[in-house]
Amino acid sequence: MTFHEYPVTQDYRISRKVLGVGINGKVVECENRQTGEKYALKVLRDTEKARREVDLHAMASGHPHVVAIHDVYQNSYNNVDCLLVVMENMKGGELFSRIQERGQKAFTEREAAGIVNEICSAVAHLHRMSIAHRDLKPENLLYTSPSANAALKLTDFGFAKKTDESEPQGLKTACFTPYYCAPEVLGTEKYDKSCDLWSIGVIMYILLCGYPPFYSQHGQPMSPGMKAKIKSGQYTFPSPEWDCVSEAAKDLIRKLLKTDPTERYTIEQTMDHKWICHYKKVPDTPLFTSSVLADQREQWTDMQEEMEATLASMRVGPENIQIKSLTDSNNKLLAKRRKGGQSPKDEPMQD
Ligand code: ADP
Repeated sequence: MTFHEYPVTQDYRISRKVLGVGINGKVVECENRQTGEKYALKVLRDTEKARREVDLHAMASGHPHVVAIHDVYQNSYNNVDCLLVVMENMKGGELFSRIQERGQKAFTEREAAGIVNEICSAVAHLHRMSIAHRDLKPENLLYTSPSANAALKLTDFGFAKKTDESEPQGLKTACFTPYYCAPEVLGTEKYDKSCDLWSIGVIMYILLCGYPPFYSQHGQPMSPGMKAKIKSGQYTFPSPEWDCVSEAAKDLIRKLLKTDPTERYTIEQTMDHKWICHYKKVPDTPLFTSSVLADQREQWTDMQEEMEATLASMRVGPENIQIKSLTDSNNKLLAKRRKGGQSPKDEPMQD
């Protein structure tokens, strides 16, 4: 993808409308001056990390379940080099907001299977290109439009990694990971990809009941008990939410939430599982999901932080060992800590 060096404002009118706020700043709406078409504009400081994000996102772009990149500009504002990424405008919002807002019509297991199938097809596309996303979480799954037939697409390649490039030598032995298996046991490629499968398992679990599998009671995310639960893979399928959910769904969740990544399903095995490959034949059983999501709105931020902390701990690998020094990490929890709000839950999980 070529980065235009002339100002983005030559081609696009930039609006004040903020579409979302992420760790790297705002995503705003912009309009193509020629066509009048609306797009989303993400502005990043031009760093090596940002270039990697844009390169990998651009590589994956074009798939029906990956947010498309239309243009990239490298411009300078007040002597600060920036990358401006013009993406398709995802007007349908985040995955779970939409399920929560459904009102009367119950969300069903068959619909959940359709959604997991869409997510899997994006991840399969990435993994085939030797890209691990490593930040697959609900906020990064957006709908193209509010209409019923909108497509769900994956975005935010801020932690994505090319898995077929050689690791820096010498660091391998120094590396450890708290997440059940050192990358060198599985090989870094498979290890990095296995994070995405764990994420699919968590998202699938939430889709089927409305709460996360490793659920901490009342605002105590990442308490020591919680860490222990995650580490030992303790979760259940509580009643009444799980009573009518099919055995096939539970079977796939068990294979995705394996704590040992050597045992966890790969994306190919997941795509071949009957709950995914025959997703249209999954029972159309109504689920508790929408009402649980609406009732537990306040716990959603806790869930997001839990998932983020676990993903961060899984990303600790040879090339990230320096990030643990907290200097150049791009992690919300660390950012919060730097701002002064220290809390025990910010600590990376350790053995
Ligand atoms: P960061 O890497 O800074 O976390 P994201 O890429 O996740 O940023 O974007 C932050 C938020 O902006 C998202 O959670 C979403 O709400 C919104 N957003 C991102 N991309 C788009 C898009 N293409 N269309 C509409 N909204 C978007």
